[in-house]
Amino acid sequence: MGSDAKKSSGRKPLVRTRLPMATQRPEDRINNFDEVPYGYNEAEAVLESQRCLQCRNAPCVKGCPVEVPIPQFIKLVQQGKFVEAAEIIKTKNSLPAITGRVCPQELQCEARCVMGKRYQPVSIGNLERFVADYAREHGEKLPELPEPTGKKVAVVGAGPAGLSCAGDLALLGHDVTVFEALHAPGGVLIYGIPEFRLPKDIVKYETSYLKKIGVKIIPNFIIGKNKTVKELLNEFDAVFIGTGAGSPRLLNIPGVNLVNVYSANEYLTRVNLLKGYLFPEYKTPVKKGKTVITIGAGNVAMDSARTAKRLGAENSIIVYRRSKKECPARVEEVHHAEEEGIDFRFLTNPIRIIGDEKGRVKALECLRYKLGEPDETGRAKPIPIEGSEHIIECDVVIIAIGNNPNPIIPQTTPDLETSKWGTIITNSKTGETSLQRVYAGGDIATGAATVIAAMGAGKIAAKSIHKQLMGHEIDEEEHNLEVGKCDS
Ligand code: FAD
Ligand code: SF4
Ligand code: SF4
Repeated sequence: MGSDAKKSSGRKPLVRTRLPMATQRPEDRINNFDEVPYGYNEAEAVLESQRCLQCRNAPCVKGCPVEVPIPQFIKLVQQGKFVEAAEIIKTKNSLPAITGRVCPQELQCEARCVMGKRYQPVSIGNLERFVADYAREHGEKLPELPEPTGKKVAVVGAGPAGLSCAGDLALLGHDVTVFEALHAPGGVLIYGIPEFRLPKDIVKYETSYLKKIGVKIIPNFIIGKNKTVKELLNEFDAVFIGTGAGSPRLLNIPGVNLVNVYSANEYLTRVNLLKGYLFPEYKTPVKKGKTVITIGAGNVAMDSARTAKRLGAENSIIVYRRSKKECPARVEEVHHAEEEGIDFRFLTNPIRIIGDEKGRVKALECLRYKLGEPDETGRAKPIPIEGSEHIIECDVVIIAIGNNPNPIIPQTTPDLETSKWGTIITNSKTGETSLQRVYAGGDIATGAATVIAAMGAGKIAAKSIHKQLMGHEIDEEEHNLEVGKCDS
């Protein structure tokens, strides 16, 4: 056993394997949009918590981008003090019901858990989810708000970065207004990640909590169109930009303009936010294909392929140019997708989308690949196999190969420095941008990353903004935000 374990309390683990969460049966869940895992009940949570060794140096915490006090909250679960456990988590992470569900824990906190060295790591994410759900269902206390400072902050974008920045600033007594382009707050949590992974009621609850602590949210308001950042600076003492990476990356192959080729963003937004599957009751239809091919293997691709299955596709196929080992999606999502009968075509890459005489998708032409030496990303390089062209018939293609930063703010804000990828350049330890009183964080600064990394960046910027507003010097904060980043 490693040195971390030696420094732990010395108690032998009672159970080597983690307690799995009960889930809906695959044959049932492919016919509905209800959440797949049911979550632990109280007895299960206590049982799983008892596997934690309460390590004194807590390596798990170093794996968490926002440093949730993991042993402390798990100890409270061991004692059955679930609401108190949620309160401890909330000192570092304001959206635990969400991160417990969507964090790539296997790359973050759980990757560092001492138990994982010999057995299976403690299910930190499942425990986090349990206590957050328990606290929500059993009445959380609203924190006491300090005297208003009289300072006003504008937050642009109501995704995880903007919401966590807004919440922290409101708790410090500032007057916060969030401007959101869409009709509902939540960002990717509401328009991207489907209901069967993250129930929208949870996101709504979290945003209503922010309203209760005084945050004003103005929907249908696009900064860069309805008002510019410069105009906000005339009205507000500081501005935080958390506009995310919602601009889909498209494939450069023939046929991408055919009817029934979607970007994953458009497809998921139509289904999640606009309820396109209930057409004509809802006005934005989505094509329910017989054979749907999704290109890519990140979380976005898994969400698209599993959504297509639920919309009635007989075959929902994922085409990915590397192997299963290199899939960037959360391990649990790949596992659930396999259980649901998603047909994975690994080491396969598209070269052309073929249309019928009416300009609608009818097939995808692909090449087979093999893996070579690692490339600059550290992953095995996919190499095309000559003469391996083959055709897969389909009637819908979804492109899920990543997203770029939303360009509108950089384009309408002179002197705001951006990188060659279009991200806003920030000091990642303070959230400061090249403009005085303007801060940024989340996907707009890092490119597409994770929910918890976006929240962490929002928190760091909130601290800096508070210091600026109070006339203190802004100092740099060390953080783990680079930990476990996955290409969604
Ligand atoms: P966003 O969530 O993109 O929020 C930005 C908000 O700003 C949006 O609401 C947008 O409408 C608004 N906005 C944009 N421009 C303007 C403007 N000019 N004016 C006003 N408002 C504006 N991460 C995980 O950790 N785990 C997962 O399982 C996971 N799954 C994912 C699945 C999908 C389908 C997608 C797309 C992403 C997934 N991610 C996942 C990534 C994660 O959701 C993002 O990294 C995270 O949401 C980034 O947060 P953000 O606040 O920076 O941006
Ligand atoms: Fe783990 Fe994410 Fe919770 Fe941190 S926020 S403890 S990484 S599940
Ligand atoms: Fe140790 Fe794992 Fe418990 Fe963290 S979760 S204190 S690493 S046993």
